[in-house]
Amino acid sequence: AKSNGRNAVCFFDPEMQAAANIRAELETDLHRAIQFNQFELYYQPQVNQQGHILGVEALIRWHHPEKGLISPLDFIPIAEETGQIQAIGLWVIEQACFQLKQWQDKIDSTFSISVNVSSKQYQNDSFVNDVVEIIQGLAIDPKQLKMELTESVLSDNVDTIIEKMWQLQELGIGFALDDFGTGFSSLSYLKKLPLNYLKIDKSFVQDLHHNTSDAAIAKTIVGLSQSMNIDVIAEGVETELQLKLLNSYGCNIYQGYLFSKPVPAEDIQFTVSELLQD
Ligand code: C2E
Ligand code: CA
Ligand code: CA
Ligand code: CA
Repeated sequence: AKSNGRNAVCFFDPEMQAAANIRAELETDLHRAIQFNQFELYYQPQVNQQGHILGVEALIRWHHPEKGLISPLDFIPIAEETGQIQAIGLWVIEQACFQLKQWQDKIDSTFSISVNVSSKQYQNDSFVNDVVEIIQGLAIDPKQLKMELTESVLSDNVDTIIEKMWQLQELGIGFALDDFGTGFSSLSYLKKLPLNYLKIDKSFVQDLHHNTSDAAIAKTIVGLSQSMNIDVIAEGVETELQLKLLNSYGCNIYQGYLFSKPVPAEDIQFTVSELLQD
């Protein structure tokens, strides 16, 4: 609504309108993105203290024909709202499993690919079946597939989601709780979920060396994972100092620019990182 009255509120905000237009365009273009092969998975190594690659996290990229490379932060939320995340999410899982096959000669049986799974995907009744079909279709060892979920997975329909997670874990799929500590869910959920990893969010890693509360949170997450008898992965590790501090807390799996940015499949290095060879 637009008003010319002197004291009336002007509802028309050109900036907001521009943002809405961009969003509407992206939403339309998203419908064709799978069909036109515009998505690509980048992979970021997850390494141990020695710099050995244990696996990778798959991170989606959208090569838009006019707008260029679009960040998942700019289109995953739209896809979640519109329901397009169902198809995109399955594409991600299938592509990751396909990549696992491609890498077969370069990796051992413990190497894993982690995919991000949106809470919306668990709301779909056929999700577990769809995953089983992909795994069986490509003859993948389910132990090599991991799913990362955020605390938002626990917002609604908690019981059905947890039920599906257990079904998937029974198949051999592992679960990591992503962005742990950034949400608002109760710690009591932790014991209900079939978790194999907690991930320390990069927001806690960034200022580790001079922010005492971030350091305390990181330490607490490591301690929690130890008492739950599961592993912990630190995300967003960019400096040797962050690595050293996290290691002193007892963290033993790392991911971050210090080792590698997310890269296309063909650029993944399977050999020990030279960084840590000294
Ligand atoms: P996330 O799952 O928390 O992924 C980690 C993000 O941190 C990635 O951003 C990664 O590129 C970035 N990162 C990794 N190491 C460093 C570092 O050392 N420093 C800094 N500053 N950043 C680092 P990206 O790839 O832009 O993805 C953003 C988010 O988009 C992801 O956050 C995830 O929530 C979502 N996302 C990505 N791919 C998918 C997908 O296939 N499905 C779903 N549902 N969400 C996805
Ligand atoms: Ca993740
Ligand atoms: Ca994160
Ligand atoms: Ca996230």
